[in-house]
Amino acid sequence: MHPFQAFMPAKHIFKASYTSEKMRIDIITVLPELLESPLNNSIVGRAQKKGIVEIHVHNLRKYGKGPRQQVDDYSYGGDAGMVLMVEPVYMMIQELKSEREYDEVIYMSPDGEILNQGIANELSLKGNIMILCGHYKGIDHRIREHLITREISVGDYVLSGGEIPAAILADAIVRLIPGAITDETSALSDCFQDGLLSPPIYTRPAEFNGWKVPDVLLSGNPRLIREWQDEQAVERTRRLRPGLLDD
Ligand code: SAH
Repeated sequence: MHPFQAFMPAKHIFKASYTSEKMRIDIITVLPELLESPLNNSIVGRAQKKGIVEIHVHNLRKYGKGPRQQVDDYSYGGDAGMVLMVEPVYMMIQELKSEREYDEVIYMSPDGEILNQGIANELSLKGNIMILCGHYKGIDHRIREHLITREISVGDYVLSGGEIPAAILADAIVRLIPGAITDETSALSDCFQDGLLSPPIYTRPAEFNGWKVPDVLLSGNPRLIREWQDEQAVERTRRLRPGLLDD
């Protein structure tokens, strides 16, 4: 079983059970360079090298129009800012869809549902996901109406493009796939997995500059340590993010 099913409210589980097929994420962008570093380092980079996930970045200009491979145009109505055109996006999405089925075609958008751990858990159970990054003023609305199955925001602020949001989403998903993190329990004990913030963490030395690690963590008693961690998690959540307890 996928380790996060146990932690997920039923509404977050679409697939009855986790299949061990390799996950695939396709990202469509006008700026592939922006995705290189976040996708090829750390846990996400290692997961690709280990063969746990395949991530493919596609340059929308492949279907750009004319000698300049144009992918954007002025907006009807005369608002300032360029809009990604429907045709290149349609062609790109159709090409990918002709090769395999997608569980979701996601558009990163500031007016989408705000990303949280539950959404990341849910998406980590999927097989193939496509992510479309907007740029400039955004994308022709017909793409959203006819081709997109889900819209996700990384928060109530506006960024210049969907690439950094797509990298955030991919990272949040990939680190949950079994095997991406060597010690799977370390992802299970992250913030939000059980609706609580994490307890404080420490490493050696036990004392620095007169600043001490709490005695209980040095006690070697797993039960006491666990109790302390649980208390801290609840206390920090109540103080810093009381809304999580209401949920
Ligand atoms: N005009 C749009 C913003 C365009 S920003 C509006 O007012 O809603 C350009 C692109 O950046 C968007 O198409 C989207 O893909 C991406 N983007 C910007 N902020 C984002 C956010 N908070 N979450 C996800 N994607 C975002």
